[in-house]
Amino acid sequence: MVGIFNLFRICFRQKLASFGNLFQKIRLFNLAIIDDSNCLVGVEIPEESTTNNLQPTTMKKLIVFNWKSNPHNAASAIKLAQLVEKSIPKKNAPEVVIAPPFIFLEDVGKVIKKAALGSQDAFWGDVGSYTGEISWHQEKHLKVKYVIVGHSERRKYLGETDEMINKKVLAALKAGLKVVLCVGEPSRAAARELRIKNAELRKAKNYVRKQLEKDLKNSKFLILNSKLRNHLVIAYEPIWAIGAGHSDTPQDAVEMIKYIKEFSISNFSPYGGSPEGRQFSNIKVIYGGSVDGKNIKNFIQYKEIDGFLVGNASLKQKEFDRIIKA
Ligand code: PEP
Repeated sequence: MVGIFNLFRICFRQKLASFGNLFQKIRLFNLAIIDDSNCLVGVEIPEESTTNNLQPTTMKKLIVFNWKSNPHNAASAIKLAQLVEKSIPKKNAPEVVIAPPFIFLEDVGKVIKKAALGSQDAFWGDVGSYTGEISWHQEKHLKVKYVIVGHSERRKYLGETDEMINKKVLAALKAGLKVVLCVGEPSRAAARELRIKNAELRKAKNYVRKQLEKDLKNSKFLILNSKLRNHLVIAYEPIWAIGAGHSDTPQDAVEMIKYIKEFSISNFSPYGGSPEGRQFSNIKVIYGGSVDGKNIKNFIQYKEIDGFLVGNASLKQKEFDRIIKA
């Protein structure tokens, strides 16, 4: 068995150059497993994958509750998760994801039925010598469906680079997990004058585009894989609005979300920027940054916003109840 496998590897390595085009096609339409030297060593079909055809992104709103490093203990985490469950209506509910700290994943997973389980990060390695890290493999075992990758707090406090984030995105997508990739500019100067306001927005768009290019490097063959439709979600989170108590304006958030959708359509639509391609995008774009029970009504009316990533308000019943029911 090992012999045949090695033969397969060697054969593919030697033929790699002449198989150029074919190899590209395999990469695009199957889940190619590629080793460190870029040799195709197999094709993987993820266990938890959807077989949906292309879907317009005007579907159910997605609401991801990021509990960050809260609450203090498992009993409180279970109670909070039960309250969230209670808030989710039986009909016309948005898709709600609860992302507790790793340590409560199992407990929370046991008490939720309507909400899906998310994690706040996943290491790119499988299992092995990675002290302190939690792998996508372990998370899948706990029935985690969504993983948040590249949150600005991890970029800032833990020094996560775009290169690391890219590895996490690729590993999680290959594993069949849904990825919520966070991007957003660190600052935006407040300006009344339209000319300066537009210049600031342009700067922010450039910043976000560069993040997307680096964080999604080499991910096209995964994003276009028919088994992974809708597995990538991009969360636009202007860092200056996170935990700040004041959100971006819905209009500016929509402007950036449209820009991200343009980027994703021209880079990841199976039809490129063609008229057919423009109708479809596999990639949802959600907004995060001080969304709460009050301002949600200002955002929810915009069909361009596919959902929300919520931090602080996800810990307060009155707030998350309003967000879910908005
Ligand atoms: C977040 O941490 O992703 C976030 C959006 O936080 P908050 O809602 O508290 O701004």
